[in-house]
Amino acid sequence: MIGIYDLPDAYICERCGRMLEGNETQLSYDDTLVCRVCGGDAVPAYRCEICEEILPEDDIEGSDHKVCRSCIEKKRYDLDFCAKVGEHEGTEVVLNSFLTEFFTESEINELMLTALKERSKVKPVDGLKYLRYASGVAADLLYSEEND
Ligand SMILES: [Zn+2]
Ligand SMILES: [Zn+2]
Repeated sequence: MIGIYDLPDAYICERCGRMLEGNETQLSYDDTLVCRVCGGDAVPAYRCEICEEILPEDDIEGSDHKVCRSCIEKKRYDLDFCAKVGEHEGTEVVLNSFLTEFFTESEINELMLTALKERSKVKPVDGLKYLRYASGVAADLLYSEEND
């Protein structure tokens, strides 16, 4: 999920597929950004950190780190990589206040990643699947998989 305050690297026209520079977009009557050439919707696009391709937001994952789906596809079982892309995408999780007294946020992240890697030795964890469900349902998925 991309934050609404992240400025896109470009816009891409949904209809003609053209990469739109600043002066190739215009506001339509209902205040949406459209392609000046064909009038199609201009969708925000971001540059993938790995392959550097600029792609529409639907094909990009991550917030601080933007990576396209096909690059994630290739590294979906690399949990360090997935954790990096998922950074700050936290769903609301209630942590034990006793533990948070003793561990910093980054220590807790580190411990959880270590635990996740242990789990993946038993059954590989598909990082892409969880990145896609990063908001809200990831915890439910993990829970239901444990109980299959
Ligand atoms: Zn167009
Ligand atoms: Zn990529």
